[in-house]
Amino acid sequence: MKKRIAILGATGSIGRQTIDVIRKFPEFFEVVALTTHSNVELLWKYACEFNPRYLGVSERAYSTARDFLCSSESALLSGKNYLSDIATLPEVDLVVVAVVGFAGLEPTIKALQAGKTVALATKEALVVAGPIITSIAQKGQLIPVDSEHSAAMQCLVGERHQDISLLYLPASGGPFRGYTFQQLKDVSVEQALKHPKWNMGPKITIDSATLMNKGLELIEAVHLFNLTPEQIKVVIHPQALVHAMVLFHDGSIKAQISKPDMRIPIALALAYPQRLPLNIPEPSLEDLSSISFEEPDEETFRALKLARQAAKEGGDRPCVLNAANEVAVESFLQKKIPFTGISQVVEETLNKLPPTSNPDLETLYKIDLEARQLALKIITKISER
Ligand code: NAD
Ligand code: MG
Repeated sequence: MKKRIAILGATGSIGRQTIDVIRKFPEFFEVVALTTHSNVELLWKYACEFNPRYLGVSERAYSTARDFLCSSESALLSGKNYLSDIATLPEVDLVVVAVVGFAGLEPTIKALQAGKTVALATKEALVVAGPIITSIAQKGQLIPVDSEHSAAMQCLVGERHQDISLLYLPASGGPFRGYTFQQLKDVSVEQALKHPKWNMGPKITIDSATLMNKGLELIEAVHLFNLTPEQIKVVIHPQALVHAMVLFHDGSIKAQISKPDMRIPIALALAYPQRLPLNIPEPSLEDLSSISFEEPDEETFRALKLARQAAKEGGDRPCVLNAANEVAVESFLQKKIPFTGISQVVEETLNKLPPTSNPDLETLYKIDLEARQLALKIITKISER
């Protein structure tokens, strides 16, 4: 039987690449539901191609979507909870969560509670509520799409948890690798949006430039693989060919290596444990000979340090870190604060909000809101300076 798929955030970078994979393997997958925040035009194209039973759009895009999709046979869902409504449809087996940020949290939890397999791209969900999500997820129910975590999962097949020494988390280093703090102060939005290796949505591209992306991934890995922050070592690997390495107590290292192409982890998450013939060329010997690693500069790229600290402290700290970062990245994209202002906003927000330990979901929602409001105030101050 075909796997019945819902894609939350179908019009984004991960969503479009998921569609690419599904298009190649119609014998394995059926598209049941697709959502977009605002790209109604692309959603319409996909609706014509796949004829899914359901489409979902945000409230603000609803009226445009209704006009656009009037001739489509798909049911159009919107409203406050449309992502969760779609994530829990009885007709769905697997939910690809590929929206940006905190918005991915609730549908992830609802989909897991409804017994769906979740292919999770939205790392922010695990950052905010890692302990809650992992306590709900049954074994094999939550499959990472993030390339490093997909790679780590592959390295850990057949291994015992107690034999793991260290997880190496490679980062390409982004467009500003080697920059000094002084040089970082003046970089433009356009420069920051030019990632050397990956073509991704704007939020994660900025996170990659600040190295916050690797910080969020560190927290994501802590929860997915039940590791301590000390067991995770971030390394700069500019070629982006090694996606994770695991060191075991006997001195062996296992690595997953492939071209930097998100369709590989996406396809594995969709078809797990089957590997689909994607026709993506393997790294050449020349590629393999170029592999190098270096230490990250955490004094210049403070975001990584802040995220590691938040991971160590736990409780609400990762939630505050994430909320402040989402707001700060948005402000940077709107040219309200400089690039170095992003980690400054995150740090000040963390310092100003007193910590809460063991927050439940409701508390996390409140803290998320509070942290956003505080971050906005800090941004106003910075932009007035
Ligand atoms: P994107 O901006 O390209 O696409 C986001 C998608 O989500 C779009 O379809 C958009 O319509 C929808 N969306 C945005 N905000 C929303 C909201 N508030 N509510 C509902 N829908 C919303 O982003 P992306 O690069 O595809 O990244 C998606 C997620 O996957 C992020 O969490 C990112 O960190 C993670 N991720 C992405 C990549 C990558 O290569 N792009 C790799 C690893 C992890
Ligand atoms: Mg990644």
